[in-house]
Amino acid sequence: MRYVITKETFRACPYDILIIGAGPAGLSTALHLAKVAPHLAKRTLVLEKARHPRPKLCAGGLTVDAEIILQRLGLDVNEIPCAWAESAHLHFEGRGLELRTPKRPALRIIRRDEFDHWLAQKVRQQGIEILENIHVSAVRPADGKVIVETDAGIFQARVVVGADGSNGIVRSCILPDDRLHSARLLEALSKPGQSSGHHSSSAYFDFFCVPNGIAGYTWDFPTQLNGQPMRCWGIFDNNLLADSPRPPLRSQLAEEMQRCGYSLAESELKGHPIRWFNPFARFSVPGVLLAGDAAGSDPLFGEGISMALGYGCLAAHTIQSAFEHGDFGFQGYRRRILCSSLGQTLILRTLFTYVLYTFRWRWFQRLVWHFLHPLVKLAGWLLVINWGKRLK
Ligand SMILES: Cc1cc2nc3c(=O)[nH]c(=O)nc-3n(C[C@H](O)[C@H](O)[C@H](O)COP(=O)(O)OP(=O)(O)OC[C@H]3O[C@@H](n4cnc5c(N)ncnc54)[C@H](O)[C@@H]3O)c2cc1C
Repeated sequence: MRYVITKETFRACPYDILIIGAGPAGLSTALHLAKVAPHLAKRTLVLEKARHPRPKLCAGGLTVDAEIILQRLGLDVNEIPCAWAESAHLHFEGRGLELRTPKRPALRIIRRDEFDHWLAQKVRQQGIEILENIHVSAVRPADGKVIVETDAGIFQARVVVGADGSNGIVRSCILPDDRLHSARLLEALSKPGQSSGHHSSSAYFDFFCVPNGIAGYTWDFPTQLNGQPMRCWGIFDNNLLADSPRPPLRSQLAEEMQRCGYSLAESELKGHPIRWFNPFARFSVPGVLLAGDAAGSDPLFGEGISMALGYGCLAAHTIQSAFEHGDFGFQGYRRRILCSSLGQTLILRTLFTYVLYTFRWRWFQRLVWHFLHPLVKLAGWLLVINWGKRLK
């Protein structure tokens, strides 16, 4: 069924809930609605500007929390291809600590075109329609409904979920004056080579660039492209040190790749921002909720897939309770986020961000990554991961 709704006919729109964006946040919202309120799922429509499988710049590192949320939805992520990192190494200048997970590899690495396409198929199997190649251009809450303007006409619904990513239109329409913090990320794929220092089945994060004014790290993950093993390289800078002079991100990534025997010149470099989570920000207005990168994601590592899946759970429960009580003001959504295990991990990661990157001195970074291993492991285990199973 395909609805192309014109200005004249939009009042006939049979949907109560419109989800803008079919990435992990939007698709998780749809899947959680199917689970907690199947009667509402039938009145839900997802609008997506691309067509799955669509390219998405992302290293594809899937943490254990993402897997827990998927398992609770009854989904088996083993259905799609992946590469495994047996261990994750957090380094400063080539040495540091190694993280392993009991009885399983430390990190699953998926390709986002495959992962998002798979999730979209699961949403369709629940009877929820996804309209692709529909570009949303404006969102306007008005008189107890929300008007959504697209290149295929005008839609209206009781509830709109803005799950349209870091550069999304929904947040800029509903909260145009909000202050934004964004992180910069660059990524390049390369063929696996003879690496000096890096093991082929491990993931590496190196914070050597922090004293240079880059509030972040370079990464080197195993990945696969059409079944062929590849390496995914990248650099993350959350812009916290933007006031001081910084070298270009590209040169820092090239330096690290060269140290490991790779050449950036042989790879295509692409970039995309991530919007930071801000506990003081607004996450909704009457009739409209934000989820995933549109709401704000991890400023510490730039991890966002598990967060997007977690936001979907919170958004779906909020929508279910709004229909139950007939109140679409969504005043409680911010509190629900901040009190949830997702909100708490995001708050803690924001605090850690200021400690780790503001104290940019070489001696401090060496102290953290070379000497304080038990403390870093404990903090990570207790505060940074393991929030997925507590999410309600
Ligand atoms: C280089 C890079 C590497 C990363 N690596 C990792 C990693 O290893 N692990 C990890 O957990 N996270 C990683 N992230 C973060 C992760 O990619 C994001 O946090 C995640 O994609 C957020 O999901 P989302 O659903 O909120 O947004 P998105 O995945 O951006 O999905 C938004 C969807 O909305 C659609 N859309 C946008 N605008 C409109 C519109 N106007 N109308 C209709 N549809 C629209 C888009 O086409 C898209 O499908 C990385 C990010 C980058 C940039």
